[in-house]
Amino acid sequence: MEKRIFLKKGKEDSLRRFHPWIFSGAIHHIEGELQEGDIVKVYTFDNEFIAIGHWQIGSIAVRVLSFRDVDIDDDFWTSRLTTAYEARKAIGVACNPQNNTYRLVHGEGDNLPGLVVDIYGQTAVMQAHSVGMHVHRNEIAAALKLVLGDSLSNIYYKSETTLPFKASLGQENGFLLGNSTENVAIENGLKFHIDWLKGQKTGFFVDQRDNRSLLEHYAKGRNVLNMFCYTGGFSVYAMRGGANIVHSVDSSSKAVDLVNANIELNFPGDNRHEAFAADAFKYLDEMGGEYDLIILDPPAFAKHKDALKHALKGYTKINQKAFEKIRKGGILFTFSCSQAVNKDQFRMAVFTAAAIARRKVRILHQLHQPADHPINIYHPEGEYLKGLVLYVE
Ligand code: SAH
Repeated sequence: MEKRIFLKKGKEDSLRRFHPWIFSGAIHHIEGELQEGDIVKVYTFDNEFIAIGHWQIGSIAVRVLSFRDVDIDDDFWTSRLTTAYEARKAIGVACNPQNNTYRLVHGEGDNLPGLVVDIYGQTAVMQAHSVGMHVHRNEIAAALKLVLGDSLSNIYYKSETTLPFKASLGQENGFLLGNSTENVAIENGLKFHIDWLKGQKTGFFVDQRDNRSLLEHYAKGRNVLNMFCYTGGFSVYAMRGGANIVHSVDSSSKAVDLVNANIELNFPGDNRHEAFAADAFKYLDEMGGEYDLIILDPPAFAKHKDALKHALKGYTKINQKAFEKIRKGGILFTFSCSQAVNKDQFRMAVFTAAAIARRKVRILHQLHQPADHPINIYHPEGEYLKGLVLYVE
């Protein structure tokens, strides 16, 4: 029997505006035995079809796959992935000999809520954030291979940390195609080791590509501090940009090894770079005034709305420390990747930090996530990365 959800009266309004989530509180009743990850059709109170999507237990009960009454079959996955791939070619990140590192699927931004696919050369790293995408992982992998053809030899599935429950979902990490351990990918002509087996996210922060490029243009002759460096993306670009020295800092000693390996891969024997395992707050307290280009790209301080106040304090504190120490005429690249913190709140936190440090500060650039992390216009929640480039007098 077809599985159906009927909404409470009037609860279809957000769906008429193509918002892709249905909250559990909007549901009037369910027909049929629903299992997590099932495809379900959604009807208004007055029995009108309105959407089809993946069912899941939790506050977001349905993630909409289509607002038309279509079959969710192999053709559906192939068609959605083809559209995503065409968009990446149009942006210029795919089929580009200088760049084989990009996000192919960005969840709601690509009308595939719950799915993330990053491409690293011949390897796709696929991540499910919903049970439905997990249930469909093999169909999606087959469609990926079909769409990318010979340019794809491996698909690594990495959902251990992103799936909501651990209960009997089957294998959450492992290869669905191929098994290559060759893991060097190219971003804007620079090489990076990508640790998709053990690294954070899908192994690399693909979303900072454009911002790293901008940094490269400011690096010449400067003393650079890349705080929260992880794999050292910003450090490698700063080196190519002609920085005087580049210091990379991360609290994880594994990250320090990664950044050192990536610097060695691109600039063997170049002694302008040094990496340190240290806590950011402590390092900023103890350092002197040697830097005139500082990058602050911390992990999400607020993972949920409840943590907002605490997170804003964190952003103010870390930025204040940078403002206090950065040289006159210095440039600060400062970011927040917390979805719960919006652009204005972040800007206010940085403004407060500048005022406490009593520095004259100009905004040079306002940064955001790149075009391969698109925002579905009907799903403003998809906007998460924001940054400011500041000139500090
Ligand atoms: N800028 C990076 C991504 C940063 S991810 C890039 O472009 O790829 C955030 C990093 O902050 C992680 O590597 C994490 O280990 C590090 N981190 C978290 N808390 C920290 C702290 N208190 N001090 C220093 N590093 C920290």
